[in-house]
Amino acid sequence: QVTVGVLALQGDVREHLHALRTAGVATVAVRRPAELDAVDGLVLPGGESTTIDKLLRIFDLRDPIRERLAQGMPVYGSCAGMILLADSIVGGTADQETLGGMAITVRRNAFGRQVDSFECDLPMPALGDIPVHAVFIRAPWVEATDDAVKVLARVPQGHDAASGRAVAVRQGNLLATSFHPEVTGDHRVHAYFADMVRHT
Ligand code: GLN
Repeated sequence: QVTVGVLALQGDVREHLHALRTAGVATVAVRRPAELDAVDGLVLPGGESTTIDKLLRIFDLRDPIRERLAQGMPVYGSCAGMILLADSIVGGTADQETLGGMAITVRRNAFGRQVDSFECDLPMPALGDIPVHAVFIRAPWVEATDDAVKVLARVPQGHDAASGRAVAVRQGNLLATSFHPEVTGDHRVHAYFADMVRHT
């Protein structure tokens, strides 16, 4: 049995814990380095990436998480979590830093300032034939990737500037989605991540 942590400094922690339990893994909310030590994989939830960046330092979790990332711990970042995993960001605040690890550039609040949320049915072949209902909340998208990064889903045509944008990506043990699968009751993304953790 593997244990997956959810970074619990800010954001929709409970929903991720629930989705992970449904996917059949043991879970723990991570607020302290000792809790991080006990997990085999980690979810970085949505929230506000600038706030989470600050809280990571205050809670002395930034360096320990970066260390685990460097050691190959599987990490799944959703929305703000995707921003935290990105090596570089467009539209960040002046002093905003990320944890990094994924060779992607993400644009914060990419769907437009006036578009607070956006939903669509998103084909994501890694999860099977049925599209995922993707809920984007002031979400980033991926603007650039390097060859090591596999794009798992792109916004379908018919959604203006968002069409064709990469919104789910994987690089080795790192997974990131622009959207929030924890709010829909479809736990296939969490099940996919749970399998990544089991096979590490
Ligand atoms: N706009 C937020 C940020 O830049 C992310 C929003 C979210 O996680 N739902 O951190």
